[in-house]
Amino acid sequence: MEMICNKCGAVIPKPDLKTIRAGEIEHTYFLCPDCGEAYRVSTTDKHLRKRIEDYNRMSARVRNGTCTKEFQKRVQKVKEDNVRRSRELAKTHPLAPLLQAE
Ligand SMILES: [Zn+2]
Repeated sequence: MEMICNKCGAVIPKPDLKTIRAGEIEHTYFLCPDCGEAYRVSTTDKHLRKRIEDYNRMSARVRNGTCTKEFQKRVQKVKEDNVRRSRELAKTHPLAPLLQAE
């Protein structure tokens, strides 16, 4: 996934993903190689990481085509819930102070 830095306009063909932990909370992020601006990819807690595993397993079944329409809807719902939860966690657990402390 190619990214463009909003700050300096650098094109980042393959962001180098890093993770940083603060207790239960795990942030995935990458830094712009030119200006060092940090971009958050996701923020998870233990429960959300479990739900992401569930999603990965369930979506493999969707790709195989061995599931019902109802199951597909359930998988979609899990994904939406996960994205929403990750955004909530990012709001209550900002990444920036952790990076400054490094
Ligand atoms: Zn940059």
